[in-house]
Amino acid sequence: MFEALGNRLQGVFDRLRGRGALSEDDVNDALREVRIALLEADVALPVVKDITAKVRERAVGQEVIRSIQPGQQVVKIVHDALVEALGGNDEGPRGLDLNAPAPVPILMVGLQGSGKTTTSGKIALRLRGKERKKVLLASLDVHRPAAQLQLEQLAKRAEVASLPIVAGQTPLQIAERAMDQARRELFDVVVLDTAGRLAIDEALMAEVAAVKAAVKPHETLLVVDAMTGQDAVNTARAFNEKVGVSGIVMTRVDGDARGGAALSMRAVTGAPIKLLGAGEKLDALEEFHPDRIAGRILG
Ligand code: GDP
Repeated sequence: MFEALGNRLQGVFDRLRGRGALSEDDVNDALREVRIALLEADVALPVVKDITAKVRERAVGQEVIRSIQPGQQVVKIVHDALVEALGGNDEGPRGLDLNAPAPVPILMVGLQGSGKTTTSGKIALRLRGKERKKVLLASLDVHRPAAQLQLEQLAKRAEVASLPIVAGQTPLQIAERAMDQARRELFDVVVLDTAGRLAIDEALMAEVAAVKAAVKPHETLLVVDAMTGQDAVNTARAFNEKVGVSGIVMTRVDGDARGGAALSMRAVTGAPIKLLGAGEKLDALEEFHPDRIAGRILG
């Protein structure tokens, strides 16, 4: 399917074997392969440019030139640059930040079909199980009545509470009712699942922004489907500009997407990737490890 970067570079360096030192032209040849590999992995062009500039700076240094295996050396430099661009390996605690007075509101945003509702259920299950939190799930999707029922079903499967469905309320009213109930009944966390649309539109953004302003969530998690590739970047940019996001959950990493979208989303929003969805089951939620995604991008 895709050719791994290591193999691509091997070809370049094979042609150079026996020569004493790499010239800047040799490095340029290698960088061309790096660029193609990153673009094939769905990394957005401006991000590709940043990374190749960084790699050039390091590769022109002595390290690669003196190396017996310049191909592997360049792959390592690219790998390290990717890990850095993804937030680094030792950035402190990963995952959700719940460090706020209970009940801590978490707002889930994203396009319809991104896996938002499933991810809400997964987060609820994880918080209840691993962290022993008392979690309330509430769907603010008044546009699709089925969405509220879907979340109710997920809450049952995750064995957490869900907000009783009341017809005719606005998303804002539902959010406030959820927070009231959570305060009364001493919940630790409230996961608010907002409505999605098939494409980004102003009305959706305004609705989500109004809920956010009222509830002041501690985390606003953007859920994005890894399989949407470059579109994921536009989605992330729009939600970050109009609503503001504190973290990203990338779903469907169990598919064959290369994961380059993670890099681009991180670059355009500055928000960390916090969790990965890796399947339809409620326990298919993983911590984000930059080095694993870097490895996947490189193939
Ligand atoms: P929403 O419209 O954003 O709330 O999306 P849903 O949560 O309803 O998910 C849409 C579909 O994607 C459902 O069939 C989910 O089971 C599926 N889904 C969600 N997350 C993942 C994931 O990480 N991997 C896979 N393979 N499927 C997922």
